[in-house]
Parts: sequence; structure tokens; C-alpha cells
Amino acid sequence: MQYFQQEIETMSKAEKRALQSERLVNIVKYAYENQTPYRAKMDAIKLKPSDIKSIDDIYKLPFTVKQDLRDAYPFGMMARPKSDLVHLHASSATTGKLTVAGYTQKDIDVWAECAARCLVMAGADKNSVVHVSYGYGLFTGGLGMHYAGEKLGAVVVPASAGNTQKQIQLLVDFEADIICCTPSYIIYLAEEIEKMGLKIGKDIKLKGGVFGAEAWSEGMREDIEKRLNIRACDIYGLSEIAGPGVACDCQFKTGMHFQDDHYYPEIVDVDTLEPLGYDKSGELVITTLTKEGMPLIRYRTRDIASLNDDPCPCGRTSVKLNKITGRSDDMLIIRGVNVFPSQIESVLLKNENIQPHYHINVDRVNNLDTMEIVVELSPHIALDEVAHVEEIRKKLSADMASALSVSAKITLVSPGTVARSEGKAKRITDNRKLK
Ligand SMILES: [Zn+2]
Repeated sequence: MQYFQQEIETMSKAEKRALQSERLVNIVKYAYENQTPYRAKMDAIKLKPSDIKSIDDIYKLPFTVKQDLRDAYPFGMMARPKSDLVHLHASSATTGKLTVAGYTQKDIDVWAECAARCLVMAGADKNSVVHVSYGYGLFTGGLGMHYAGEKLGAVVVPASAGNTQKQIQLLVDFEADIICCTPSYIIYLAEEIEKMGLKIGKDIKLKGGVFGAEAWSEGMREDIEKRLNIRACDIYGLSEIAGPGVACDCQFKTGMHFQDDHYYPEIVDVDTLEPLGYDKSGELVITTLTKEGMPLIRYRTRDIASLNDDPCPCGRTSVKLNKITGRSDDMLIIRGVNVFPSQIESVLLKNENIQPHYHINVDRVNNLDTMEIVVELSPHIALDEVAHVEEIRKKLSADMASALSVSAKITLVSPGTVARSEGKAKRITDNRKLK
């Protein structure tokens, strides 16, 4: 088995716990002394750094939320003066201010190490040619994987995003064996490679890739692996914590190995914010255990997922992050039940008689919440085959009720009826807000 930092990656649970405890005590003291907004949060509940004695005390600490970063724009959350920072990254914002993260050189080194561990999980080594098709810029994807490739001692091709024909030419000429990009882009690349008649294994020598920054299904993974004959690893990161490399799949795909010596994950209940155990779904909360430029303590990511601590055949001992299933921002509460659009989508994806183009209408009738899911039939089914369509509707309705624990009205429509969006799809209309 190949590792980038075997000693850390295969550390015993007890040693890891001791390391996390030591680092948490230090980072809380550091944040209290250097990060004014967090100090105010601790003071507000009369919590002192000395009250935190080990990782088991993490639950006593107040949360940090995205709004704290916006309120402190641009430098209010930095724990170091600007002269100590070497990089700024920021998340794209469709509304309001950007969330900015500042990094010291040590922060960049740690990020690069963690992301390099991920490249190795995808099959890279120092002889690799790593083709980076993530965008370079304020977005952390491009530079993050770039640092990772350099750290590993591989050859990095900073292709950045766009110009697909040139990207394919570079993949062929430079014989890249590892690629980093979004899952939707690798599928697009695979389609173009097929159209050009290039041979997998001969012209295209890829053997692995890390794909992230978007949600993708196991079905997409199988498709990517088969078409390009590669190992496709899911990689997780967010600009506020560090870009790609916070967690990543190994070849056994038992969940994404969380780099929990630097980033400590918790799952909390979305309503009560109480900590949840392994294998329970809730909001992912991350504490940066070593970050200097902008440490974040108990940062609420808004991503919905679960953790598992099952042993992995690769020998890595870190806790694992199961696939992200949604964003808490998108959560609907229907008759007291939490419903995520991603749950609806996964039921739709399993039914071959429909296409996953859908819209959710929520309303309140006689003080009771109602939910309608409008979804398109597959092109091979005509809407006037009444009996067949009714059969499909009934099955979907039953599957939905069992997956969501709340009933929904299913309305089937012809292909092409549901409005398409160029950017982020708008899938929900909640009329309750107007009443
Ligand atoms: Zn593993």
C-alpha cells in the first residue's frame, strides 16, 4: 500500500486522539488570544481556554458560522497580521460578501500535504504527471491540487479550466496519469475523447483522478471508471477550511478518509445542534486543529453527511466522511419532517421510467403542508398510455413516501416540460412563505 505520510495516516486511534487533544487545547488558546470574534463568543458563555482539556471537551465550544466570516469581511477573522499571510482565497458569492480565508506559509504546507495524501489515494506517486483542470484563482481547486502535486514531487500540468480540445491534446502529449477536476467535467472530457476516436490506455494514459467541488452519485463514479478505465476518487474541501484535500476516497471507497490530524469533523443534529454518533446523518462541523492564518472552531459547513469509523483495508485509520447528501440551506420541513431535495433526487434516479428533471411545489392547505413533485417521464413513455403512467405514478409515490417518511403528490409530465436552468437549478417553490 502506498501512503504519502504513513506514520500519520496509519497512526493508532489512541495516538491520534492524544494528538487531537493536544492540538485542540492549543488552537482554542490561540484563537482566544488572536481571533477577536471567537474570543467574544467564548466570553459570552464564560468559557475559558483552560476549560478545554482534551478533544472530549470540544462540545463545550461555541459554533462558528458563515455569517461570522461575512461580518468580519475582509480581515476580521484573521488571527495573524496581513504581513504574516501569504495567500488569500475566497468562496464565490452569488449574493452578499465573499467569505475570505487567509493562509500563512505553514497553512499552505499543511494543505498541500493533505491534498498530496489524496493524490496518492488516487494512485499518484512522484513519477506521476498530474493534470489540473480545476480553475485557478480565488477558488481553491486549481491551486490546491497544484500545491499537492508539487509536494508529492510529481510533474504538475496547470491546465486550468476551459478549452477542452487543448486539454485533451495536453493529456495525450504529456501522458498524464492523474487528473483533477469536477465530476461533470471529467464526463464531458470522456465524451469528447470518445468522439475524437482516441484509445483509452494507448492515447489516454490516465489511471486515476480526484473529482470534487460538486455532488455526484455512485452511478456517475461507475460511469467515469468504466469509460476511462481509471480509479475515480471523491475529494472534499471548502475554501473556509482549506480547499480540496480535507477528505478523500482511497481505492476501497469506504468513505472519504478525513485528514483528522489537522481537521476534526463532527456531525450535529440539524435542529438541535446536539452531537450525533457515527453513521447518523446531520450537519458536518469542522475544527481546524493547526491553522494559523484563520483558525475556525466548530465551523458549521451546512453540508449534510455522516461519518463512519469502520476499519478500511488500506490501513489508514482516520474517520471517514460518507458522501455529502445535501445542504442544510436546502432543507424543507414538511409536516414536521426534514426533507432534502437530494433524497427526492435519489428516488427519482432509481426509476428508469422517468428523468431526473423535477420541480418541488410546497404549499399549505387547511393548515396542512402539502408537497407536489413534478417530474418528467422518459421519452419512451407517452403520457396518453394512461394505465401505464398511473402504474409508474403509484410506484413512485410509494417509493417517495418510504424514503421521505412523508407523502407527496406526484405529477408526471412530458419530457422537456420542466424548466431548465443554465446555472444552479431552481427546484423548489415554497408558497407557504407567501401566506
Ligand atoms: Zn482506505
